[in-house]
Amino acid sequence: MAIDFTLSETQLGIQASARDFAQRFLAPTAAAIDRAADPWDAFQATREAYREMAHAGFTKCFIPESLGGLGFSMVDIAIAAEELSQVELGAPSTMLASGLGLQPILQYGTDAQQRQFIKPFVDDNEGALLASLAFTDTAGGANYDSADPAGGMKTMARLEGDTWVINGQKHYTSNGAGWDKKGAHLFTVVCRIDSTKGADEALAVIAVPGNTPGIEVVSIYDKLGQRGICTPAVTFRNVRVPKANLIGTPGAIGKAIVDGAFAWTAALIGGACVGVMKAAFRHAFAAARDQKKLGAHPVIEHQTIGYRLVDMKMGIEAARYLTWKGCHDYDVSHSKDREAAIMTKVYASEMAVHVVQEAMRVVGIDSYIKDSPMGRLYRDVICFPLYDGSNDGVRRKQLHGLMLAPGYDAYGA
Ligand SMILES: Cc1cc2nc3c(=O)[nH]c(=O)nc-3n(C[C@H](O)[C@H](O)[C@H](O)COP(=O)(O)OP(=O)(O)OC[C@H]3O[C@@H](n4cnc5c(N)ncnc54)[C@H](O)[C@@H]3O)c2cc1C
Repeated sequence: MAIDFTLSETQLGIQASARDFAQRFLAPTAAAIDRAADPWDAFQATREAYREMAHAGFTKCFIPESLGGLGFSMVDIAIAAEELSQVELGAPSTMLASGLGLQPILQYGTDAQQRQFIKPFVDDNEGALLASLAFTDTAGGANYDSADPAGGMKTMARLEGDTWVINGQKHYTSNGAGWDKKGAHLFTVVCRIDSTKGADEALAVIAVPGNTPGIEVVSIYDKLGQRGICTPAVTFRNVRVPKANLIGTPGAIGKAIVDGAFAWTAALIGGACVGVMKAAFRHAFAAARDQKKLGAHPVIEHQTIGYRLVDMKMGIEAARYLTWKGCHDYDVSHSKDREAAIMTKVYASEMAVHVVQEAMRVVGIDSYIKDSPMGRLYRDVICFPLYDGSNDGVRRKQLHGLMLAPGYDAYGA
């Protein structure tokens, strides 16, 4: 079959409706998020847009049809993410984080776990429910998979009869405060079940309803950018849930669950990066074409500026097609083939920082004003290489790990 980048009728429909949605519901929130003095107010400024995302079906687009969702492919979601992220990142990131929180159950949960934990999200047409992956310990996140028990997750779960008792401190737990500061509707908590064993034997993921006693939202961080998504610190103190809430099994499967969830976001973050880059490019291109800046000709006619714009465009296009490839591989391999997805996260996030900086150089000093469109893009884009496991700590490490695996086939995918 020929390689074909033509979008299907359905995908063109998704693209058009996401574009329209972004202009109608996300654009008005961008300024409110920036204006908010308090990080909680910035998050609350996205509430109506998130409700509209639920009305439009976006909040369940990643849930398979067999479970009552819309069953979008990853490529479909990336197409939507690109359109939404060109305008504002907050509400789309909250949706992505909720999807991240549900991935362990979607990918590895039993039928009973999926019925219990996914169904409420399918039935929620108001965007009232948020899921949260409680992964990053306050002590770090990048080396969660340490084989040496001296390192690795500090959040612990011990089995008492038929009950897991969880203790630990997490932070940057997207959606962890819910909409009311009391907690997400559902946490998937990454922990270890034995402090004397490394991740290979002891890493586990446990589903924890947000109203379980012992969960406390202790701090709402005020980030430099990406202020429309709430990333609090959350403490789990003697949190007790049934034994049956363990997803998969501890050890190698526990690690695969975490890797699988982050591979899902990795490919989709590519779509968000492309959206941000396109917004930066449009702004820089318009400025270069329309302004002379005391010269006799529009700025774009200077070779340096023209070449810079060309390089930006090439980077955006390359990131876009790698995103689609990463999503495609993930789709057709049923989430097993993750290399291109992880490469997408690293490549697109670093390209996005570069492109936004280049766009600022094209626009010049006006791009440095806090309230300018470039100001927000810059604050937001800096986060992409840092989060989702950080490009150095997890992402490159995972790619290196694949290459070190026996029988690695460099061009097998
Ligand atoms: C907007 C946003 C949303 C987020 N959402 C969530 C979420 O929903 N759930 C969640 O749990 N977390 C979330 N996070 C946290 C984020 O995913 C973290 O980047 C991640 O957990 C890695 O932790 P860390 O950056 O603190 O790494 P650390 O473990 O603190 O490491 C810090 C740095 O040390 C270096 N380093 C460490 N180990 C290695 C290594 N082996 N090789 C090379 N370099 C290394 C790297 O430079 C790394 O960046 C979010 C963060 C933000 C800003």
